Amino acid sequence: MAAAALLLAAMLGAEPPSQYLPALGKIHARSLEGRLSFLASDALEGRGTPSRGLDIAAEYIASEFRRAGLEPAGDNGYFQTAKWLMLRPVRSGLLVRLDREGESVTLAPGRVDAGLAGALHLDNAPVIYFDAAAPDSWGELSADAVAGKVVAVSGIARIYGLPAAERGPAIRSYYMLKDFLARARPLVVLRADYGTPAPSGEEMLIDPESVPTILAPEAREFFTRLRSRSAGITLSLNVPAPEARPVQLRNVAALFKGADPELSKSYVLLSAHYDHLGMKPDGDGDRIYNGADDDGSGVVSVLEIASALARSGIHTRRSILFIAYYGEELGMLGSGYYSRHPLVPLEQTVANINIEQVGRTDDPIQPRINEATFTGFDYSTLVPVFAEAGRLTGIKVVPYQDPASSEPAGDPFFVRSDNLALAARGVVAHTVSVALEFPDYHRVSDEWQKVNYSNMARVDRMIALGTLWIADSETAPRWNLSNPATIPYRR
Ligand SMILES: [Zn+2]
Repeated sequence: MAAAALLLAAMLGAEPPSQYLPALGKIHARSLEGRLSFLASDALEGRGTPSRGLDIAAEYIASEFRRAGLEPAGDNGYFQTAKWLMLRPVRSGLLVRLDREGESVTLAPGRVDAGLAGALHLDNAPVIYFDAAAPDSWGELSADAVAGKVVAVSGIARIYGLPAAERGPAIRSYYMLKDFLARARPLVVLRADYGTPAPSGEEMLIDPESVPTILAPEAREFFTRLRSRSAGITLSLNVPAPEARPVQLRNVAALFKGADPELSKSYVLLSAHYDHLGMKPDGDGDRIYNGADDDGSGVVSVLEIASALARSGIHTRRSILFIAYYGEELGMLGSGYYSRHPLVPLEQTVANINIEQVGRTDDPIQPRINEATFTGFDYSTLVPVFAEAGRLTGIKVVPYQDPASSEPAGDPFFVRSDNLALAARGVVAHTVSVALEFPDYHRVSDEWQKVNYSNMARVDRMIALGTLWIADSETAPRWNLSNPATIPYRR
């Protein structure tokens, strides 16, 4: 019905359809400001994953869903609980040795972080090597090929040095590789160049369901010399049992039940991430990463739209699931977890609209007043629905353009937020944003006082209207088959 709705809208002129006004009229700048001034306050200490501030934020989000009268959609009320571990790796007795044709490299234990929930001992286990920056060299990813083997991955850092046009596809391929490994379950993954291992004694957060991973940047040399000639490599390993303590991480989810007997079994997912970077460990002055725009703005938009809808008396045909994720800043942990443990069937999830950074308009490229963008702008039939919603609510929905580049700038960002976890499983999933870049990005100065709330309210009305249209439409959004960039995401 999207097409029919658009036609109808065009016939009615530049006004949102009257049946949706009771919801759109309940979205207010003042309410958004009130919500965000708490969520991004210093009291929540930057909402690091995991932290007490993050837990308080989760309780706040749940309390707002409860207040709106939405149905709890988690395993424990509004919470989807993930049981993770904080590990303190033990380095005495740690051994990591790589062998190939008489060449042997033993890594310094102080430069290795073993993210293993228990002890592990391997003698000359066969290694399969993937150069993350060269997906063409991978061959077919088959679970049989990696079962019972060690998988070594390097080249991750090189991805970020690629020219812009190649970077997006390379990040996507790397995400797909990680997603494949999470399901194929090799013995262990050796990450041979990512980041700097924490100094001895620092804790690591791991998902005990995930593939055991060893961070070993010093092994990079060894693999760089090999390039794709990985035959004959073996790994010998001795990892002592770590000290581990359980931590609970929670996505927060609420359901707005559809009214149509059939279509209500399908879902539109409206999401944002409620975590941010936590606090600087020391130093003078402000140490709190408030994350007001990133992504407090997305979370309060989800809350504002959810409560507006719940109080409007409107019934949609499809159901709408509202969700706030943890751990985006650590590598999309909460959305990745959700994609492995969906609360409603992914096959029945017709669209995901993920909201990121909709509060700030002071983009250094150009001011973004009454303007919003969707990442992967021409990847699906979803974006035109929102462009029309924008026309009726005073928001121009545009491809994100950096004047310095000829590339559509929204494309590399498609793989940089929580929509990716859903897109990787075939769901038509985009991120909507006002300014993909803003001056205080990932700085302690990303404060709630700097947000343009009246603009944000208009943007949220656009998001709400597009979401309602999709929820009432018989036709589900589809990937754009004529754009090869969507091939990895088609079901
Ligand atoms: Zn973010």
